[in-house]
Amino acid sequence: MLEYVCLGLVFIIKIPPPKLFKYASLYKSMNEDLDHKYMRLAIEEAKISLQNGDYPVGAVLVINDKITGKKRNCLHSKEDWASHAESMLIRENSKLIKSYIKNDLSDVILYTTLEPCLMCLGTSVLHRISKIVYACPDPHGGATKINPKELTDWYVRKWPEIKGGLYKEEVYDLMIDFMKKQNTKVWDKIRVLYEDMNSKW
Ligand SMILES: [Zn+2]
Repeated sequence: MLEYVCLGLVFIIKIPPPKLFKYASLYKSMNEDLDHKYMRLAIEEAKISLQNGDYPVGAVLVINDKITGKKRNCLHSKEDWASHAESMLIRENSKLIKSYIKNDLSDVILYTTLEPCLMCLGTSVLHRISKIVYACPDPHGGATKINPKELTDWYVRKWPEIKGGLYKEEVYDLMIDFMKKQNTKVWDKIRVLYEDMNSKW
C-alpha cells in the first residue's frame, strides 16, 4: 500500500511538468510575437525621428496588451537634451500607469528602439514599469548594465525585467545613418563606439 501510495505520488508529480512546459512555451512564443509587433511600431517612430533630422529613437508603451501611447525623440527639434522618447512617453501616461499599478494589474511594458539611458531607466523604475524591451544596445549612453543590488533594496524590488537585442541590426543602421549625417567630431567618436560594438556581433 505504501509502495502504491509512493508510486501514485511519483505519478502525480511526474505528469504536470510536461503540461506546464507545454503551456509555458506557448506563453513564451505568444509574448515573443507581441514583442516583435510592438517593436516594429517603435522602429517606425524612430524612422520618423530620423526623417525629421532627430536622434532616431522610438518608444511604445503597452499596458495589458494594449498600446497606451507611442513617442519619438525630439532632442534637436525641442532643443531639450532630456526630450527622450521613453521618459516623455512614461510621464505622459503617468496617471494611467499609476491606476493600473494600484489595482495590481502591473503588466506595463516599455518598448524602445535603443537601450535606455540612466534618466529613462530611472523614470521606468519610478513608474514601476514591469518590463523593458529594447532593440539596439547603446555603447555610449546605455545604462541597463547597472546592478540594482549595488543600489538599495528599493531598487531591487522595483527593477524591471530587461530584454535587449530584438531588431538590433536594423536600429543600428538607423543610428549610424544619423551619426554620419551629423558629420561632427563628437558624433564620429560615438559612431566608432557603435561600429566597434557591431564588429563583435
Ligand atoms: Zn533616455
